[in-house]
Amino acid sequence: MSTIRSPKPTILVVDDISDNLHLLTRELSAQGYETRGVLTGTMALTVARSTPIDLILLDIMLPDMDGYTVCQTLKADAATEAIPVIFLSALDEALDKVKAFAVGGIDYITKPFKTAEVMARVGTQLSLRQAQRQLEQFNQSLEEQVQQRTRELGEVNQSLQVEIQMRRQVEQELRDSEMRYRLIADHMGDLVCLHDIGGQFLYVSPSAQPLLGHDPETLIGKQIVDFCHADDREYLQLQFQTPLTSTESMTSCYRFRCQSGRYLWLETLAKPVLDRGGRVTGLVTSSRDVTRRVKMEKQLRYDSLHDALTHLPNRDWLAKRLELEILQCQRYSQNCFGLLMIDLDRFKAVNDSLGHLTGDKLLIAVTNLLKGCVRDIDMVSRWGGDEFVIFLDRIADLKEAIQVAERIKTALESPIEVDGKIIFTSASIGILMGNSAYKTSNEIFRDVDIALYRAKASGRNRYEIFGLEMYQEAIALLNLENDLRLAIRQRDFITYFQPIVAIPTQTLLGFEALARWQHRDRGLIMPGDFIDLAEDTGLIKPIGSQILRQVCEMLKQWEHDDLLDQGFRVSVNVSGQQFRDPTFLATIDQILAETGVRGDRLKLEITERVLLEQSDSIAHTLAEITARGIQLSIDDFGTGYSSLRYLSQFAVQSLKIDRSFVSQLEPHRQGIVQAIIDLAHNLEMDCIAEGVETEEQRSQLQALGCEAAQGYLFARPLPLAAASEVLRGWHGQRAGEGRGDGGMEWWGDGVMG
Ligand code: C2E
Ligand code: CA
Ligand code: CA
Repeated sequence: MSTIRSPKPTILVVDDISDNLHLLTRELSAQGYETRGVLTGTMALTVARSTPIDLILLDIMLPDMDGYTVCQTLKADAATEAIPVIFLSALDEALDKVKAFAVGGIDYITKPFKTAEVMARVGTQLSLRQAQRQLEQFNQSLEEQVQQRTRELGEVNQSLQVEIQMRRQVEQELRDSEMRYRLIADHMGDLVCLHDIGGQFLYVSPSAQPLLGHDPETLIGKQIVDFCHADDREYLQLQFQTPLTSTESMTSCYRFRCQSGRYLWLETLAKPVLDRGGRVTGLVTSSRDVTRRVKMEKQLRYDSLHDALTHLPNRDWLAKRLELEILQCQRYSQNCFGLLMIDLDRFKAVNDSLGHLTGDKLLIAVTNLLKGCVRDIDMVSRWGGDEFVIFLDRIADLKEAIQVAERIKTALESPIEVDGKIIFTSASIGILMGNSAYKTSNEIFRDVDIALYRAKASGRNRYEIFGLEMYQEAIALLNLENDLRLAIRQRDFITYFQPIVAIPTQTLLGFEALARWQHRDRGLIMPGDFIDLAEDTGLIKPIGSQILRQVCEMLKQWEHDDLLDQGFRVSVNVSGQQFRDPTFLATIDQILAETGVRGDRLKLEITERVLLEQSDSIAHTLAEITARGIQLSIDDFGTGYSSLRYLSQFAVQSLKIDRSFVSQLEPHRQGIVQAIIDLAHNLEMDCIAEGVETEEQRSQLQALGCEAAQGYLFARPLPLAAASEVLRGWHGQRAGEGRGDGGMEWWGDGVMG
């Protein structure tokens, strides 16, 4: 059908009579048609198939086949079926018109034909054919258009379908997610609410019931602040302003009234709800019960600022209050507060002898007593252990602080009863006046502590007021402490030896080892100037070890030189701290092993206070010391808390009578010394009198039965070389012919006091 045709229609004429053929082809050519002429049916079919033909004039009578057959064959072939066929037939021929139309012809012309009729019929058929072809083309393009449209519609439809599908899916998802959110809101423990901008409840999740006891429905339309604790109302309103005005979320913590009237602490996250224009239309809140947490936080805060035993403010709180006060002082630049630092005297003894529980009760009793001595605006705080600090707010002058200190002293003078036991206690107090020079609480604590230290050092049960000279003294002490540490590292301590002599026979019994500090700049420093500090700082332990080692090294040397009698011992002073140190025994063992000295060359001098502690570990240490052959003597006897009970419990060999008693010895005043000597003898101990300076003292002591003595009368503490000299002298004399009666020759020169 897509054959390219010439603009002129081509007409095939089929007639076996060549005249007819020529006539027709001529006439048709004359009319402007293209013509082909053939004489047989076979040729007609061949031409029709090979050439574009617009119309066929077909004779019925043909030599090889009749026109019907040709037509039928043409119509049966798709390539030729559309070619219109007009039959030609002679008048005398019997034209079967029905058959002609039946086989596909469209018209017929009878011969002899009139040219005009032929042309008219041909023209008509060609026009028809043309019209039909146009119609076909139109139809076809219409068809194509329809198809195109249909396709387009199909596509549109399909995309619509997809869109619909998608929308359905989104809707479903929205429904699902809404359901999920609702499910969450409905079932979660947290309270989820929607509020309008005025704070009214628009939606309340069912958890309001279990959480607050409120039916969610009853809350709707009500204001949130109406349920809020009066103290938190203003805060909450302020908090809710943030998400309402700045569209930021805000977390608030406040108390919410439950149905029962009880309040719960709620932590609420409030988020703004925005419309399409970005305007805030309400709030969505989610709240949880944080009551437990808030209570715990409160407890923690309380704990961090209070002492657990007495419930007094602790040192952190005091420090905070002082820092505030410092700011005030700086602003108004005047003395505006006072501070008392109080330390209970001998509290440790109470703890050790009566137990910690009683100690705790005593502290509580003292707390109440202190509170009774101050005004409401003052603050009693516990500094730790048995120390308290009282902050005196807005006092006019030092006099007021002193009055409070006096009041406390007086109050403590009455005994305190705890667990049916009567306890006598007293306190040392440091006093400080605040002033604008202080920049930190630590400076204040440092200074009031210095004042307290002074009060304790000057004999306890008293108060001292902090002054600048105290500070300078404290600084000096601090320098001394640094020096002391250095001295320990450099082993700057040396030992002096003071002879101990048997009174009636004047024989040499031993030495007392006394520490000296050979200071690089200051020369020889006496124990009175550093032992207290060494005790306070714990440095007495390394110093004590160094002295013990020196003593043992000397003993070894003297033994080697064969200068020591049977029973000769060196007495070494041991402080309570050394004695309580769990490594003390090991230190002794190590020194004895390293120097190869036997324990029975040593005697340790301890004070009564050590025995008073009466702890199991002290008893154990004492037993272990005795087991090593080391003897013990009680130093400075009579100056401390003499308790006869403990003396009998331990294997102590000697009592040393303190110099203060010896120096008071007069012919008529011998009572105390006599009592001490009798006591020692009753307990099967011997007595050593200290500080014997005169012959009278010596003879009186002899008369009273005192076994031994040391003092300037016999010899001062001697440096090593002099001590060795004395030993040699003594040894030499003993090796000679007896000592005679006034036998002091062995002292050598320059030894006598
Ligand atoms: P203390 O144990 O009572 O020692 C006796 C003190 O009396 C010594 O003082 C001694 O020099 C002094 N003295 C002896 N005879 C006389 C005398 O006739 N007249 C006078 N006025 N004084 C006399 P020192 O050496 O100054 O020692 C003082 C204190 O230091 C000692 O008292 C002792 O408690 C302590 N100390 C000394 N060395 C050590 C040591 O190595 N360790 C320990 N923990 N303390 C020591
Ligand atoms: Ca001593
Ligand atoms: Ca002594």
